Amino acid sequence: MTPKAILKNTFGYDEFRPLQEDIINSILKKNDTLVIMPTGGGKSLCFQIPALIFEGLTIVISPLISLMKDQVQQLAEIGIPAVFLNSSLSAEDYRTNEELIRNKKVKLLYVAPETLSMEKTLTLLSVVKVDCITVDEAHCISEWGHDFRPEYRQIAEISLKFKDAVIAAFTATATPQVQDDIIKNLSLKKPKKFVGSFNRTNLYLQVILKRDPLSQTINFLEKYPKQSGIIYCFSRKQVDELYEELQHRKYSVRPYHAGLSDAQRKKHQEEFIKDDVQIIVATIAFGMGINKPNVRFVIHYDLPKNIESYYQEIGRAGRDGLRAHCLLLLGYGDISKINYFIDQKEDKERRIAKMQLDALISYAESYNCRRIPLLNYFGEKYESEKCGMCDNCEKEEENLVDVTIEAQKFLSCVIRTGEIYGAMHIVDVLRGSKSQKVINKNHHKLSTYGIGENLSKEQWLSLSRQFLQKTIIQKDYEFGSLKTTALGMEVLKGELKVKGILEVEEVKYKVQKESSLDYDKKLFALLRAKRKEIADKTGAPPYVIFPDKTLIEMATYFPKTPSLLREIHGVGEQKSKKYGQIFLTLINEYCQTNNIAGNIESKHRKRRKTTIKKAMFIQVGEAYKKSNSFDELLNRFDVKRNTLISHLTRYVSEGNKINTDILMDLIQIDEETQKNIFTVFDRLGTNYVRPVFDELNETVSYDDLRVLKICYINEQL
Ligand code: ADP
Ligand code: MG
Ligand code: ZN
Repeated sequence: MTPKAILKNTFGYDEFRPLQEDIINSILKKNDTLVIMPTGGGKSLCFQIPALIFEGLTIVISPLISLMKDQVQQLAEIGIPAVFLNSSLSAEDYRTNEELIRNKKVKLLYVAPETLSMEKTLTLLSVVKVDCITVDEAHCISEWGHDFRPEYRQIAEISLKFKDAVIAAFTATATPQVQDDIIKNLSLKKPKKFVGSFNRTNLYLQVILKRDPLSQTINFLEKYPKQSGIIYCFSRKQVDELYEELQHRKYSVRPYHAGLSDAQRKKHQEEFIKDDVQIIVATIAFGMGINKPNVRFVIHYDLPKNIESYYQEIGRAGRDGLRAHCLLLLGYGDISKINYFIDQKEDKERRIAKMQLDALISYAESYNCRRIPLLNYFGEKYESEKCGMCDNCEKEEENLVDVTIEAQKFLSCVIRTGEIYGAMHIVDVLRGSKSQKVINKNHHKLSTYGIGENLSKEQWLSLSRQFLQKTIIQKDYEFGSLKTTALGMEVLKGELKVKGILEVEEVKYKVQKESSLDYDKKLFALLRAKRKEIADKTGAPPYVIFPDKTLIEMATYFPKTPSLLREIHGVGEQKSKKYGQIFLTLINEYCQTNNIAGNIESKHRKRRKTTIKKAMFIQVGEAYKKSNSFDELLNRFDVKRNTLISHLTRYVSEGNKINTDILMDLIQIDEETQKNIFTVFDRLGTNYVRPVFDELNETVSYDDLRVLKICYINEQL
């Protein structure tokens, strides 16, 4: 069978994800292969499919028993013979598994490196053909990584014993040092390297200022009832406190940290994985070895210590590819807490840790698309103007106002107080506070005292963060003191204008619907209950039976026959045999009692028919072509003008030419001016409207520029 056929028949998936097919082919050709792909990218499939095609055995080296167990369970469910050998097995099961291997009855063997290097394992394996050695979580081989395992260092030597075996290494760690370490320490021969994008497009990223974290968290949780999520805290104490608060409020929650006994930790983790408990409040001790695909949110109650850990932790959300919400509470108090720990470190280590913390803070304080700093950190360029899946991308450019005067007031206050104070104190002076500190320092006598009373404390603090972003001031993260920069001096002299946001917005949580499918919630709940019932009988987590996406598709397309069921995501041959009838019965019954017409149609045909499946910008573009006025479109789509405009922009940018007459009716600009504006677009490009707006000295409104941008792009087609 071809890889593609196995994907559909055995796994029940329609398409390969990016790189998967190339990686599979590389392994099949027996090229040593290194794969770097983010968590949830779908690495396992890349060695599992070759394992089915190879004649001999594939050995999978994995650092944790829980990971091995999880994969073997999932493979068993889809009818792939796989076993593991480790200390968790009874003597009898161990012997059974050895027997299966000896008799060539299994395709995949999962082991920890220390088990593999044992004399008896090697003797056992000497009588079978080994075609592939897969090293999962390969970063464990590197001291630079976060989970260094000395035993991983033995792998290269052991692999020499298997002459026919190709080596395939997999990791989600992107740093070049770690990659080099993997290649070197595994002695990979002319490895083919595959690096996937680290952009997890299904994660919605949001950062809010930490004010009252408990009520902020509860507010958020209320938006995600019955969903699974993780809340990360800085310390064990914080975990215990938050856990008690939530428990007291009747949330389904468990704590997890290194202070709990092994048994307790294991129990809480299992409960979470099996959907018996919804929320885990945890320190960073929680995560490695968690394969739960339907984590719908991750909250950082406290600041993580660097971008890498942050990315790792949010990476545990949305592994199933459905949307998930990542919320970070940015507390300035947390920074000093982390700094305190950093200060205990040695010189060089300390400097690195500080730099890493700085990068995280500037990510959190950014007013640009969050994917820019995040992906840049991993050496990946992110070009798109708006990702549409972060808080900053939803803010409108129009909210920007001229804050040059405010900046000047702020800067001169920073200078008058000697450039040794943090934002808090500066703001106190600006707002004429009578605090002890202000009086003691004689700062109430400064000329800048009280000149900023017109704005609230919050507004000033928000401005100060914006000034930092724009590098007109800079902050010493060790002491928190603010200084002016050369750019700041230009502002003071009136040579440079500053734009910013004055309104302190009320925090809104844009609830992320996990799927764009409009599924039947009642049927979904029934399917979910059935899944849980089956899972509990077998002792497996529910997602091993079927992932959420499968149930969502069932509750959307109402498949009524075995062949229609096979079209659903995740329903392969084996699962269809095993569970098909149970779920079909449930669906048929439900449709009967609820009079859901026997829409005996294929998911694929249905998909093609429903316009909802078409991307919004295409719908808008096509409707535009047929309509007579812009108002007609506004009525039809019931969205804001700007939303329509940005859909049209995308439509045209993708190469679809339109007649711009209707658009031109929206603006009143003579031909001469238009020509002039087009030459500015020529020079500055169309990526951003802001520079064009500035270049034209604000004489043409944003709204008009947006429309003209479409016309301009359209003209180039
Ligand atoms: P990783 O090891 O890279 O973190 P996994 O191999 O655990 O990721 O895969 C994450 C999820 O994506 C799993 O639930 C897996 O079944 C699913 N998946 C992988 N490849 C595909 C695909 N081509 N189509 C649909 N789902 C996929
Ligand atoms: Mg994996
Ligand atoms: Zn964005």
